[in-house]
Amino acid sequence: MTVQQDREINAATGQPLVVLEKVNKHFGALHVLQDIDLSIKRGEVVVVIGPSGSGKSTLCRAINRLETIDDGSITLDGQPLPAEGKALANLRAEVGMVFQSFNLFAHKTILENVTLGPIKVRGVKKADADKRAMELLERVGIAHQAEKYPAQLSGGQQQRVAIARALAMDPKVMLFDEPTSALDPEMIKEVLDVMVELAEQGMTMVVVTHEMGFARTAAHRVVFMDAGAIAEENTPHEFFTNPRTERAQDFLGKIL
Ligand code: ADP
Ligand code: MG
Repeated sequence: MTVQQDREINAATGQPLVVLEKVNKHFGALHVLQDIDLSIKRGEVVVVIGPSGSGKSTLCRAINRLETIDDGSITLDGQPLPAEGKALANLRAEVGMVFQSFNLFAHKTILENVTLGPIKVRGVKKADADKRAMELLERVGIAHQAEKYPAQLSGGQQQRVAIARALAMDPKVMLFDEPTSALDPEMIKEVLDVMVELAEQGMTMVVVTHEMGFARTAAHRVVFMDAGAIAEENTPHEFFTNPRTERAQDFLGKIL
């Protein structure tokens, strides 16, 4: 069996890892998440697309509780998301997040950026954290820059460090919110390549992106959001060749 077949079977049969049920969220009068039902299986790669303002970022942020929700439920591995304290810090570690802006600590070295979480949150010894961080930096192709500071790296390199930093916490799921949107075109591929590799290794991923090449290569499922609701979901092939809703057809007409 190829790795690809193996992970397709995993994603098709895996247990639900992240489950959202009837999730609603308002910002004042704005109903930003409307009855969202979404179940993400272990090993599954879900690409979320949709127009600006449709609620994609809010959805991601709700999954690691950077946003609270008004009603409905979100569970990770069967457990409701914790509200505060150590349990919340652990949740944030288990749900890795990579943002459009890389959000590295400017006054810490690349290595320190990656080891800080494991040392502070996970209580890992510095020597062990350093060793693991160097392995991860190796994996994303940045090991030789470990002693530099973020500003000395290109945007694409910084984003790969941000991925390594999230991976250092051994997350159960990785959320990517438009990870390549702020990058110059020539740097997009080096970040997407790391993400594709991660997907192939079986990481559970939720990826907000307009990179259709990534969706076609790596996603098991595309979720199309519009005005706070999931308007359509399907396999990438079906979604791109045969979008069912007019809203998805319109959207694809604009971006493809
Ligand atoms: P997307 O990521 O799909 O572009 P967002 O989830 O960022 O959409 O935002 C959805 C809507 O919620 C937008 O209209 C946005 O302006 C609004 N919004 C997002 N965050 C806040 C906030 N903290 N307070 C008020 N409105 C917000
Ligand atoms: Mg967004």
